[in-house]
Amino acid sequence: MRTASLLSLVIPMHNEAESLGQLFTRLATVLEPLKIPYEIVCVDDGSRDGTWDTLSLLRRTYPQLHLIRLSRNFGKEAALTAGLAHAEGDVVIPLDADLQDPPELIPELLQKWSEGADVVLAVRKSRPQDTWLKRHSAEAFYHLFNKLSPTKIHPNAGDFRAMDKAVVQTLSNLPETVRFMKGLYGWAGYPTAQVEYVRPERAAGTTKFNYWKLWNFALDGIFSFSTTPLRVWMYVGLTTAFLALAYGSWLLLRTLVWGIDLPGYASLMVSVLFMGGLQLFTLGLMAEYLGRIFQEVKRRPPYVIAQQQVAKTTPSHKISQKPQR
Ligand code: UDP
Ligand code: MG
Repeated sequence: MRTASLLSLVIPMHNEAESLGQLFTRLATVLEPLKIPYEIVCVDDGSRDGTWDTLSLLRRTYPQLHLIRLSRNFGKEAALTAGLAHAEGDVVIPLDADLQDPPELIPELLQKWSEGADVVLAVRKSRPQDTWLKRHSAEAFYHLFNKLSPTKIHPNAGDFRAMDKAVVQTLSNLPETVRFMKGLYGWAGYPTAQVEYVRPERAAGTTKFNYWKLWNFALDGIFSFSTTPLRVWMYVGLTTAFLALAYGSWLLLRTLVWGIDLPGYASLMVSVLFMGGLQLFTLGLMAEYLGRIFQEVKRRPPYVIAQQQVAKTTPSHKISQKPQR
């Protein structure tokens, strides 16, 4: 059995002022009886609704709050990356600010960690609050991702999980700018255990992810973790070339045997349009990878910190000065 000398929670927040009071009350109710020193790393991801001011106020009541304010909205993955980089705990648990990751599960996650699992996933047994479309599109995405990518991700686990310091270190050391966290967790590996829960409704406010954002998120995931689409396209190209060769030979033979006949406008148009479409699609596919290479070679950091207030309770020997990536 291992014990934690410090537990870190990491919470990315974008316009979550309404949830915060309830969030910290519930967190304190769960965490205080555990008798483990803890810090709550809150990353304000460019909120415009007073999240930062509310956090600064709440820090008077909860000295465990470590506040990080990003210079603008960088997206949840970047906010989470910032939080993980600054978490000092022996075990780190990221969770959403809207209480969809119930704090009451934390003791169970910690228990499995102390028994030796370096990663303990909180697995959604069911997600009744999500729409039919969201559930099914998510299912289809994870199925496709796991088919295409050598890195496997759990279809029913999000960011809510307990991770040993070593796992967090591994993640923080990954150099990429575009960070599809679920893929990165899968890539990192480590012995993993699971705990199940039913995902509740959002405590307040509305989701920050519309379908367009989710679509782009899915593209990021697939193109950052798989080169299978490129390879598939090699086979599509080969097959088309083979078919073209066969049809060309047949046309040649027909012309030689039966002589020249002019009609053929339809077949000509069809093949020109089909090949044109195929080539544009291929170009688009390659551009997905090219765009990603472009983003990565610039080596811009995934986030910029504008302001920071360290937790008053974190033991001073644990506070390290992190350079900005
Ligand atoms: N979030 C963030 N930056 C963003 C969007 C979301 O930090 O650009 C945070 C948000 O405040 C919440 C978590 O990410 O704590 C999950 O977001 P949300 O609840 O909107 O996602 P959903 O549960 O609907 O998938
Ligand atoms: Mg949510």
